[in-house]
Amino acid sequence: MSTAASGDVQGCVLTPEGFVRGRLRWAEGRIVAIEGEPVDEATALADPLPRVLPGFIDLHVHGGGGADTMDGGDAVATVAKAHARHGTTALLATTLTAPRAEIELALRALAPQLQQRVPGAARVLGVHLEGPYISPDRLGAQPAFTAVATVDEVLALHAIAPLALVTVAPELPGHLELIKALHARGLRVQIGHSNGTYEDGVAALRAGACGFTHLFNAMSGLHHRSPGMVGAALAHADAAEIIPDLVHVHPGAIRAALRAIPRLYCVSDATAASGMPDGEYRLGQQRVHKCLGAVRLADGTLAGSALTLDQALRNLVQLGLGLADASRRVSTLAADHLGLAERGRLVPGAHADLVCLSRELHVTDVFVEGERIDLADAS
Ligand SMILES: [Zn+2]
Repeated sequence: MSTAASGDVQGCVLTPEGFVRGRLRWAEGRIVAIEGEPVDEATALADPLPRVLPGFIDLHVHGGGGADTMDGGDAVATVAKAHARHGTTALLATTLTAPRAEIELALRALAPQLQQRVPGAARVLGVHLEGPYISPDRLGAQPAFTAVATVDEVLALHAIAPLALVTVAPELPGHLELIKALHARGLRVQIGHSNGTYEDGVAALRAGACGFTHLFNAMSGLHHRSPGMVGAALAHADAAEIIPDLVHVHPGAIRAALRAIPRLYCVSDATAASGMPDGEYRLGQQRVHKCLGAVRLADGTLAGSALTLDQALRNLVQLGLGLADASRRVSTLAADHLGLAERGRLVPGAHADLVCLSRELHVTDVFVEGERIDLADAS
């Protein structure tokens, strides 16, 4: 299997031009043809054949299947396998705020897994560095090891494992200059875990920040005379992450963001507890509890999510989004955010990253670069 995989699926294939009822074929892990008749979304939703969508792309994943990115070893492989079984075909391994030596260890452990995809797992596209360069006043569930960044420090981490996204709080001393310098070197910086003002947010966007990390969560909220980071995002952002587990953000706030931010895309912010039964898990060094679809610290603070992007898609559809629009927000827009033209869309030449869905939008089949994923495998 792996990169030499070829094969085909039948179904209602979601292309950039709409649904095509027929067959998608791939060879050597790449789509070679999509053949069939165009059908409208209502027809595709009712069809007995599966709906074939671009595999989900999750740019904010801490853990899954009981493992956490910070665990080191082959933890990221476990995480990438767990999410693949829920239709995620590519993801960013996301680190936590921790002493610098621990972050370096985690990056060293995962660097080889960026070179080669593990069979049965989603492609790990790179790292999302979430912390330590964040506000001590907006930790959320991040441990209290925040720091002010220097360009050299960030570049040293980038040299260990490629940083696809770096979340920073722009109001920390020197961070606007940091954003400019990283942007000039081609790194993507997102605003997050920030207690800054609206003006701080606008200045960060001008300095080259490309989006907001889990919009609404762990950032200064919108008051009409003090619009905060949320106000800066709603007024000016082209792109932002949102966690649509319907626990982190009220559906009304998701709707407001959908009207305001053209490239609003979904992330799971998933932790080790994702894809696992209720019970006790770890987030970095902290104990967390999974119960009723949420993951919390002992004091009740939300500590990442138990979300997977198949559930995110269903939640968006439940909010009233069409399936094609929902699909863009769990796949295409995330690929676009990283500048990946060969993922997040079903067109000839793109990777054969596919998720097949039942009429109830449950995952029935997943292919990563043409490799069929064993949905029952719990290893
Ligand atoms: Zn966070």
